[in-house]
Amino acid sequence: MEVLIKGAARLSIDLNGEQVERFRTYCDELIAWNEKVNLTAVTGWEEVQERHFLDSLVVASALPTTVLDGSDGTLDVGSGAGFPGLPLKIAYPQIDLTLLEATAKKTAFLRHVIDKLGLEGVEVVTGRAEEEAYRPEMRERFGAVVSRAVARLDVLAELCLPFCAVGGVMVAQKGRKVEEELREARNAIEAMGGRADDRGMLVESPVSIGTLVVIEKGRSTPPSYPRRPGIPSKRPL
Ligand code: SAH
Repeated sequence: MEVLIKGAARLSIDLNGEQVERFRTYCDELIAWNEKVNLTAVTGWEEVQERHFLDSLVVASALPTTVLDGSDGTLDVGSGAGFPGLPLKIAYPQIDLTLLEATAKKTAFLRHVIDKLGLEGVEVVTGRAEEEAYRPEMRERFGAVVSRAVARLDVLAELCLPFCAVGGVMVAQKGRKVEEELREARNAIEAMGGRADDRGMLVESPVSIGTLVVIEKGRSTPPSYPRRPGIPSKRPL
């Protein structure tokens, strides 16, 4: 677990023994389940520590303290096998976390691993963002909405910002070059009530250099968004 412990320390996150144990169990379960459910292409022990755990922990640097201490909720949209939500929850146990994932096989894994890790304060929702955003207990309820590897920013803005409370943030993990993607997303961000002048924030993880795009929610999302399932990606705003 050296890679994880040292990498986390470089992100100013000190993991205690219990947390390291949880990461170890998470990795074991991920690898075991991956044989029957396609969860990830990354299966090496060290690779999981770098590409999944550390890459997820980088997001913490963009999260408000009210989110890290659980006063405001966090939603992970398209969480897959739990990234970035679950590593953040292991490192910051106070986080009040909801994982949203469309594929039932993946949410079955999420429920299993959360139980196995004994994590409290994590909810798993099987569903599509385009539909869940209309549930009153989900819409504009979260201080932070995070997402990794789900869609381009124009599409992602429509999938994430409706969940974000006014005054909250959407944090998307992107590659090194985001200027063009941000420019193309300006319309969608603005239509969802986000501040389109927001910029990417270049962050260096211990293993890679990427960009966290942090978009502030300035005003409420109009009630007609998001559009029906599949439309955001078929016809980006
Ligand atoms: N965030 C994870 C998974 C990325 S793969 C990681 O970084 O490893 C993208 C995931 O998003 C898939 O599991 C897919 O089922 C889910 N997804 C895609 N569109 C979605 C939508 N509209 N609503 C909910 N989940 C969605």
